[in-house]
Amino acid sequence: MKFSIRDDDTSFFTNPQVLHNIYGEVAQSVPVCLACVPFHGVLSRPGIPSTDLGTRLTYDINENAELISYLRESLKLGRFTIALHGYTHLDSDNRTPEFCGDYDHFHLLQMGRHHLEASLNCTIQLFVPPHNALNKQSLAALSRSSLSLLGSYNSFMNRVPDRYFLRNIIISYYDRLRCFVSPYALITPYASNQHYTRHNEHPCVPLIPGITFTQLINTYYYLRRISKNFILATHYWELYENPDMLNVLYQFVQFMLNQPDVLPCSCEEIVYESDI
Ligand SMILES: [Zn+2]
Repeated sequence: MKFSIRDDDTSFFTNPQVLHNIYGEVAQSVPVCLACVPFHGVLSRPGIPSTDLGTRLTYDINENAELISYLRESLKLGRFTIALHGYTHLDSDNRTPEFCGDYDHFHLLQMGRHHLEASLNCTIQLFVPPHNALNKQSLAALSRSSLSLLGSYNSFMNRVPDRYFLRNIIISYYDRLRCFVSPYALITPYASNQHYTRHNEHPCVPLIPGITFTQLINTYYYLRRISKNFILATHYWELYENPDMLNVLYQFVQFMLNQPDVLPCSCEEIVYESDI
């Protein structure tokens, strides 16, 4: 089983010391995919000053020189990889998530991707939508961009059918059925990497407040039994705020590193693994 970690929300507002305190040691054994926001807006979240709350001001990640230098060094050492996580992460005025609004999503994806690639001297292959939310336009734009999706998006209503459409519906419902009859209390029903014509979609297992070490290891046993890979999804600012959750992360990473069948690798390696 391949194992990796995806962490969301790195942006202009991120203190590199916080990232280092949380992942400095972990990322020496398991590469962490940081889903970064290129031009983060002001929203209510720990670590973001509330002074400009309610405005549509945005902040360029490139202007946090200390963060950029830390990320560039860590990328060279293979400790982090970078995914695109929205463009501003701001909902529209009627609270519609960014990639469910009526924008030119393809243009946003291109601009965001190129900005991060140029700032961090890296290649971006993965996209994490803010709030895991997409609509028909953004899903089509994602595919046109040849960016793969990291996270579960299992609504088939918004899709333009391609030759993998039916196969993926069957996989998705089969995943749900297997989860339903499993003796374990699982965190997510989705297990399979789904291949479409121009992109893939890989589910993640979320580590959010309330998730226990036991639930994580039960999910591991289940995924191992059905021969799937494991990507753990986190938020560094939530781990920073919540020492119990951070402890669950460390316990689980140690557990995974002790399993003879577990191979730590990057999220990109897992998502682009050919299994069809
Ligand atoms: Zn986010």
